[in-house]
Parts: sequence; C-alpha cells; structure tokens
Amino acid sequence: MFESLPKLPNDPILGLSIAFRDDPNPEKVDLGVGVYRDASGNTPVMAAVHEAEAQLLKAEITKAYTAPAGYPGANEAVQELAFGPEHPALAAGRVASVQTPGGCGALRLAAELIQRARKGARVWVSTPTWANHVPLLGSAGLELKEYPYYDFERHALDFDGMMAALAQVPAGDLVLLHAACHNPCGADLTEAQWRQVTELASERGFVPFIDMAYQGFGEGLDADAFGPRWMAEQLPEVLVAVSFSKNFGLYRERAGALAVVGADSARAEAVQSQLLSVARGLYSMPPAHGSALVAGIWASNELRQRWQSELSEMRGRIQTLREALVGSLAATVPGQDFGFIARERGMFSFLGLTEAQVGQLKDRYSIYMTDNSRINVAGLNLDKVDYVSRAIAEVLRG
Ligand code: PMP
Repeated sequence: MFESLPKLPNDPILGLSIAFRDDPNPEKVDLGVGVYRDASGNTPVMAAVHEAEAQLLKAEITKAYTAPAGYPGANEAVQELAFGPEHPALAAGRVASVQTPGGCGALRLAAELIQRARKGARVWVSTPTWANHVPLLGSAGLELKEYPYYDFERHALDFDGMMAALAQVPAGDLVLLHAACHNPCGADLTEAQWRQVTELASERGFVPFIDMAYQGFGEGLDADAFGPRWMAEQLPEVLVAVSFSKNFGLYRERAGALAVVGADSARAEAVQSQLLSVARGLYSMPPAHGSALVAGIWASNELRQRWQSELSEMRGRIQTLREALVGSLAATVPGQDFGFIARERGMFSFLGLTEAQVGQLKDRYSIYMTDNSRINVAGLNLDKVDYVSRAIAEVLRG
C-alpha cells in the first residue's frame, strides 16, 4: 500500500543542523535552530529543573497512568503562570486546561477542539508566522488565512495593516496571536496595541487563539502574558497554547498545556470534557515527566525563585547579545540601521538579507541561518559578534 507514498524532502531546519554539525570550520556559528544556548553554546538543563528532578526521583513510587488532564498540580501551575493567580477568569471557574505534549500538542489539540465546535473554521495567522502553525492547524482541517503583521521594509510591526485586516474578520473566526517574542520576527504588540486588538475582537466577535511559547523570554513572566491576561478578562472566549520547552528548557520532555477560557463556568466544564475526549482520540494522555517538574518548581518557593532568576539571566543574555550585535553592525555597516534588532524580543529577528546573501554567509563564513535570514540571537556569543557582523558587512558589500 505504501508504493503511492513518495519520499519527502528533509525538513530545511533539520538539514541546516546537519550541515552545521558536519562543518569543520572552527569559527562556525549556528543561528538556525530555535533553541536557547548559553555562553558555552549549550542548551543546559536549568538548575531548578535538575533539583526538581532529583526530588521527583526520590518521591516517585509509581509510573502508573496519571489523570487524563495531566500530572496533578500541573494545571494549577499553568493557570497561575499564564493568567496570574488572582485572575478573575480563574476565580469565576472560566478556565479549562489540560497538559499536552509540548506547545505543538496544545496547538493541535486546540485545532481539534475548534473543529468540533465549528467544522472547517477559519484561523487568521500573521504574515509571517511560525511555519509549523500551518501543518499543526491545517491538518486538523481548519482553513488558514493571513493578516499582515511584519513590515520587512521598515523592520517593524505593521500595526495599521494588521488592524485593517482584522477589522474585516467575521464573527466566529479565530485570530492566532503570538503572546510575546514573535517567531520568526521578534516584533511584539505593546500593551496599548493588545487593548486595541481586544476591543476589535469584542466588536467583531472573533476569537483570539494565543500561542505562548516564550513567556519570560521577552520582558518578563507577567509582561509577556499581558495579552492573554487582558483578553481573558475582557472577552468571553480565548484559547491559549502554552509551551514549557523554552522557559523551563524542557524541549525533549514535551511539556505544554492548552488553556481555554469559556464564557462561564458551565462552558468551561463542557470544554474540559471535550478536551479530554479529543486527547483520548489522539494520544490518550500527555507525558507526565516535564509537567511534574513544572508542578514541582511552581509548588516550591525556593525552586520557583531559582527558576525565575535563571530565566531572567537567559532573558538578559539574549538582550545583551541583541545590543552587542547592533553596536557591532553600526561600526561595520555604517550606512544601515540595525537598531530594530535591539528593539525586538525573544530569540528571533530577521536580518533582512536575500537568500543568496544567506547562502554566502554559510559558504564563506560558516554562519548558518534559515533562508529567510531569521537568526536565533541566542545562538550568538559575545566573542562571535564581531565575526558575524564583519561577515554580514562583507556579503552586503556584494
Ligand atoms: N509556538 C511557537 C511560536 C514556537 O516557536 C514553538 C517552538 N519552536 C512552539 C509553539 C512549540 O514548541 P514545543 O512543541 O516544542 O513546545
């Protein structure tokens, strides 16, 4: 039966990682794959995670199934982290939530839930958006449409274009928003802009579907969650797909959650039962290990503080690198303003290079990034900044 299936090409980011691994140049720099790296180029296990893991190992007496909604305590942790412990939607019992296999699992589960509520519903995604949104939502049967988001000429959010497009979105459609640290462009909504989008959602009746994969990587845990918190207060329905891959460094553990805010507690209860039923049909139950670590860290004041300080160190490192790169580029490419890199947040920014220039950076300087010139700033290092900016200056000179 499989004769009909052709071999598909490799995933481009995977190909980039392999090419980087096999590149013998000692100067090589990987700005491609989207994982956080420390100053030694590692993606470390956070100390708070290690400690929670040691405690778990001691306390764990069974590997029997956990609850279908996930590890006990993890959903409370997710709700408090995403919305803040005092949020009125939590007090009103309006939030349904389940653990998921990473943020991808949350997005896919959300897509299936939406399918059940409104078959073939339309989801508006930003141009550009994270490439995986397309298969994760599209393969569940949702129709994807695009709204303008990033102005590649100005290297800035095209808020007017976005609002003009969203003003045409009909009631019942969904609008996918990045909570903070937009992947791939790094341009985020300000609080005032979140309020404006919220007002428009209220007027038009579209439903925000928020992808929160980088909480704590932008301005801080609370500031990065302003959008979902404000929308959950102002609007009857909001979906929030959460990932713990980056902010807890739990990538391979596949830890995430989907939180769905309903109009009232009865709606939330109905949605909770539907989420469990959708998950049963996909993978039955989420993995427990990563969620157990999140729950353990959240429940301990000491671990929580340690985790928060590690997270702010990571955020600080990214910002330092952003500023260093801007400073270095100002000296090597004096005719061009790269200041946007320091204004953007999270791991990613677009350099604004052509595919040919990206190819030259790889071939001549062993500097790797995706073809659209998206860089993972965390892949840089202070002692590589000048090398990278000189190489960029060279390829820009042609
Ligand atoms: N959304 C965005 C925008 C992402 O960048 C990522 C991770 N690259 C995710 C969701 C989900 O990640 P994961 O499934 O690894 O938790």
